[in-house]
Order: sequence, then C-alpha cells, then structure tokens
Amino acid sequence: MSGNEKVMKEQAAVLEVPRAEKGILRHEPRRYGASEQGCALEYYGPDTAPADILLMASMHGDEVETTVVLGEALRRVPENALKNPVILSVNPDGILRGTRSNARGVDLNRNWPSSNWSANPVYHRDHGGQERDIALSSGASAASEAETRALQQLVLRLQPRAIVTLHAPLACIDAPQASPLARWISRRVQLPLVPDVGYETPGSFGSWAAEQGIDIITWEFPRRSITALIASHAPVLFQLLTGEFDPGED
Ligand SMILES: [Zn+2]
Repeated sequence: MSGNEKVMKEQAAVLEVPRAEKGILRHEPRRYGASEQGCALEYYGPDTAPADILLMASMHGDEVETTVVLGEALRRVPENALKNPVILSVNPDGILRGTRSNARGVDLNRNWPSSNWSANPVYHRDHGGQERDIALSSGASAASEAETRALQQLVLRLQPRAIVTLHAPLACIDAPQASPLARWISRRVQLPLVPDVGYETPGSFGSWAAEQGIDIITWEFPRRSITALIASHAPVLFQLLTGEFDPGED
C-alpha cells in the first residue's frame, strides 16, 4: 500500500459530518473556569482521565488562526467520534481585544509555575517580524492569572499523556522529546521538528507541562492564509481529535 493510500484509508475511518452541517458546532462545551474578564473557559470532548491527547489553541490572542482552523476541524467531527479533549481558546479575553496577552497585559505563555518562571518582562516581536522589543508582563507571580490556574487544574485532572498546543507563525513542530506523535505531526504537515524555538521561554506552558512528565508538542503554524491553513492542517487535526491515526507509521 502506498503512503497516499494509507493516509486515505486512515481518513476514511471516521466520516466527516456532511458539509451542509459543518457550519454549526454541535459538541457540548464543558466549563473549566472563567477568564479575568469573566469569559467562559470551555473545552469539548471526554472528561475522563487519563486523556490521551489534549489539544488547545490561542494561548496568544493574536494567533486567532489557530482557533479558526482547530474549530473547523472540530465541526467536521461527528458528535460520537470526538475521542480527545479540545480547547478552542485558552485566552478568550486576548481574542476579544486582538492582543497576544490576556486582559491584564500578561503573556499567558510565560505565567506558568515551572522551575524557570521569571518576573522579568517578556519581549516579543510584532507581526511584521521585527526584533523582539515589545514588552509584556509574565504576571505578578507564577500562576497569577485566572486562565493559567484554570488550565493548570484541568490538565492535572485530565492527566493527558500528550498535549498539542497551537501557536503561530514560526512554522515548526517544537517538541523537546521528539516523540512518535511529534514526528508523525511533523511528517503529516511537512513542518520541521525542532527541540526549541531558539530563544529562552521561562515560565512557558511547555516548560511546566514537561516538568509534569507530559509529552508537550508546540505546533507553530506557518505564516499562511487561513484558507491555506485549513487545507493543510485541519485534516491532521481531525485525525488527532478522532484518534484515527497511527503515530508509529512512516
Ligand atoms: Zn504564540
């Protein structure tokens, strides 16, 4: 069987909802907390532990393409075929404001109670890809933000074996453990597997999750249109949501 035939066979294993019905999100949300501004923090899918893979998008509110593409993949999944828990927006206040940070100016990806958390300001690039000279806070203390604490409790409760967190636009699969799952995603979306993003990330979600022994995979979308990202990435996310994939394959 050729590689393409194998992929087609996998994708045929769970049928997508009919196109006419994929506009509406029919999965029941489960609430895991509230943002600093009172937005519901929600996930979809099973709440049984241990979970296999927890998927999440938009820890940074200005990377909204991750929510759009993950939401598209989720709406294609029949209600009884959703096997893994999924969060469409970790940072809803940031999405509402169009900011990388949450409503209090905190970069939620530097607010985690990992051993390397730092009180120093966090500098990031703007979307033009200039030097990293835009300051945000890492929080008054580790886990100072409601979004961080709620997600921390959810992860500790669901005990996922692996977490896939979506970001943009560095175009890589950042996976320090280079697990079979990380290598599978890298092959399927044709993005390079890297051990880090090339700069220090104290207090990042990845640092904290790795310290919990979780296979943490940061999937950085490439700088492409949402239409192109849906075409190349949504089918792979669909497979992760339905559990219809074999990371051992080559
Ligand atoms: Zn990001």
